[in-house]
Amino acid sequence: MTGSLPSHAEIVVIGGGIIGCSTAYHLARDHRADVVVLEQNQLTSGSTWHAAGLVGQLRSSASITQLLKYSVELYSRLEAETGLATGWKMTGCLRLACNADRWTEFKRLATTARSFGMEMQLLSPAEVKAMWPLMTVDDLIGASFLPSDGQASPSDIAQSLAKGARGHGAVFHEGVRVEGFDIADGRIKAVRTGRRTIACDKVVNCAGLWARDVGALAGVSVPLQAVMHQYLITEPIPGLARDIATVRDPDRRTYFKEEVGGLVMGGYEPDPRPWAVDPAPADFAFQLFADDWQHFEQHMIQALARVPALETTGVKRMIHGPESFTPDGNFILGRAPELENFYIGAGFNAFGIASAGGAGWALARWVVEGEAPLDLWVVDIRRFAAIHRDQPFVRDRTLEAYGRHYAIAYPHEEYESGRPRLISPLYGRLRARHACFGSKLGWERANWFAANGSQAHDLPSMGRQNWFAAVGEEHRAVRGAVGLFDQSSFAKFELTGPDAGASLSLVSANDVTRPPGRITYTQLLNRRGGIEADITVARLAEDRYYIVTGTGFRTHDFGWIRDRLPKGADVALTDVTEAYATLSLMGPRSRAVLASLTDADLSNQAFPFGHAATIAVAAIPVRLLRVTYVGELGYELHVSTGAAAELFDAIMAAGSAHGLKLAGYRAIESLRLEKFYRAWGSDITANDTPFEAGLGTLVKLGRDRPFIGREALEEAAGKPLRKRLCGFTTEDSDVVLSGRETILRDGEFVGYLTSGGYGYTVGSPIGLGYVRNLQGVSDDWLNSGRYALVVANDVVPAALHQQPLYDPAGLRVRDAPGSNSRST
Ligand SMILES: Cc1cc2nc3c(=O)[nH]c(=O)nc-3n(C[C@H](O)[C@H](O)[C@H](O)COP(=O)(O)OP(=O)(O)OC[C@H]3O[C@@H](n4cnc5c(N)ncnc54)[C@H](O)[C@@H]3O)c2cc1C
Repeated sequence: MTGSLPSHAEIVVIGGGIIGCSTAYHLARDHRADVVVLEQNQLTSGSTWHAAGLVGQLRSSASITQLLKYSVELYSRLEAETGLATGWKMTGCLRLACNADRWTEFKRLATTARSFGMEMQLLSPAEVKAMWPLMTVDDLIGASFLPSDGQASPSDIAQSLAKGARGHGAVFHEGVRVEGFDIADGRIKAVRTGRRTIACDKVVNCAGLWARDVGALAGVSVPLQAVMHQYLITEPIPGLARDIATVRDPDRRTYFKEEVGGLVMGGYEPDPRPWAVDPAPADFAFQLFADDWQHFEQHMIQALARVPALETTGVKRMIHGPESFTPDGNFILGRAPELENFYIGAGFNAFGIASAGGAGWALARWVVEGEAPLDLWVVDIRRFAAIHRDQPFVRDRTLEAYGRHYAIAYPHEEYESGRPRLISPLYGRLRARHACFGSKLGWERANWFAANGSQAHDLPSMGRQNWFAAVGEEHRAVRGAVGLFDQSSFAKFELTGPDAGASLSLVSANDVTRPPGRITYTQLLNRRGGIEADITVARLAEDRYYIVTGTGFRTHDFGWIRDRLPKGADVALTDVTEAYATLSLMGPRSRAVLASLTDADLSNQAFPFGHAATIAVAAIPVRLLRVTYVGELGYELHVSTGAAAELFDAIMAAGSAHGLKLAGYRAIESLRLEKFYRAWGSDITANDTPFEAGLGTLVKLGRDRPFIGREALEEAAGKPLRKRLCGFTTEDSDVVLSGRETILRDGEFVGYLTSGGYGYTVGSPIGLGYVRNLQGVSDDWLNSGRYALVVANDVVPAALHQQPLYDPAGLRVRDAPGSNSRST
């Protein structure tokens, strides 16, 4: 439609690709919203028209898998609603394994599939051959097969969605380019086009690879990079069944799909080519790049070895087009942190066709309700930060992620590009002491320390990895003496002003209005009672709070609090992350080390657990927090960045008499698992309430105090819980748990692990995960079952635990009598 543009619309969707069409469809169908879609060229003319159309569903996140499953459901029934076919064919998808590690990866994938409610079969080469006779299987160990995957026609789906959207009242305008925005008070007031300015309440940027440019018009960072991606379509191949399974052959970096009796064949090369145009040309509609046979040859060689019939089959067409990819291979969804009413659905990493149904559904609810409808953290735009405004960094990281698309996913792998980027003031000192660094949101962080003479780098392995013993030493030092961690990358905020307490109270499930000097551990909830953030709050003065949260949650948590400060409140929220370094001194000897550097009284009476104070340590002013994430007596020392190195040197010197050892994030992971301390993003998410997560004691419903999520929790309080977070250990101590392993109770599926690792003190693999039962998860029900975990497709006997495995009463944390760790 190219008729006259309205002067106002409730919601303007920018972009008429499959994502814009799906978002408009769901906005109109589910929410009866007044929606206008603006497309600069014609519907589908961007990346959508030339997609290959493979539709896979399994991802490592349960929520994203849920969205992709919804896509499949929608594509299979849309024709009945709109009269326009989507070309959906449920062919199933084969993934081929040519080596032992890949096979282990697939066995883990099959387990993940089961955890997420799908059956993935593992097939022998002979079974693969029977299913796909044209394929050479000599080099195969086996294959996985997901029967409910398939393929569809990208343009047809988009057109069908557009027709459905129109049927529910959405209006589409083609040939209308968005050229700017009117912005005031942190909100978009109107969308400017070449033809008319449209006043609106909300904007959704679904502009595909142009989404970065459209975001920039509003001052919004959308970190993506257009990459050139190509595949070919062959002439018909005799003997190729029309309903043959799609194939992913990751060890040969290629994929196949049937099309009109021939094959579509493409791949992911390790040396991808960015489409380095800035901005992307607006008139690039239904266009392709020139064929690049030289670059494609690597795929051709591999494909010929897999399907020899290609030798004698003509190529009908080469498709070489641009697609937007992101620095971590996940798409970008949600509300931009920079503006109140600007949403994004872009950066689909060549699975936009598979994602569109579910992503459009989720985005529509997000736009209308202002909150994500389920835990979408892995795709949430707030997972990015300031470094992602740096396009060369985004480009390099994105190309690295693209190049790894078909690489074996070894646990604990780190990206290598664009490093080092953000470093703590202790970086050089840690490096000199053989730290092996990982990176989180741009920060270099010590994961573990190599012993003198051994190499400080990770070696990939599907089993125990090369750092296992070194991390065990760090773990034991923390339990038995004292460890020092550099946690300077913690995100840190200050909330100040006369209304600080009342304002923070409105978003906190726990009571943060305790007297100055007290620390509160609290969850921030959404309206469904789901956990949106997990923070530590130190009240420094009546009108001053210091908030500490995880490195990766900086943008998210800051935005969550800022956006919910009451209008007109006399309060200021400031990000002070770079101003303070954090040294965490943890273990039974921590007090002794600290006491040798300060005159302050550190006794339990003067400075108990959960207290904060500013004291001098080695004559350096330190904000001292008595908290722990490892389950021991311990302290976080927050110190001005400039003084951190001096403080570090003083602690290291004082600590040598007490067995002090440097320790890294892998030790923290092991230590926290023994204590069942939850990690936000895996064990506790927007899908889980504090009651379900076993954090109910931190919710202060008894006090007459409003906070977001209170109504939902009041509604849930006292009712049987349908899921509960529990701990698991396996009898076999050599089992490697990495999360997403299926939990069986009396042989029946009841959930899956959200975290997995190893506890060196208890000498056992440890997992955390929700156990589910629609009739309620009571203690009796939990205790009356026999448990097992499915690990890489093997059933492993397991024990369920409702209490932490280590120091369940928390005596050591409080340094209480009987803790066997009384420090001097
Ligand atoms: C070669 C290739 C093969 C692929 N194969 C698959 C596959 O097998 N399976 C799969 O799931 N995915 C695949 N994909 C990915 C898929 O094509 C994309 O993820 C998907 O099409 C993205 O849809 P979109 O709506 O985000 O973007 P687009 O389709 O590009 O739509 C964005 C639209 O926004 C419009 N626009 C931009 N700026 C403005 C503006 N200022 N004003 C108004 N309109 C604007 C553009 O004109 C465009 O039409 C493939 C991609 C490529 C390149």
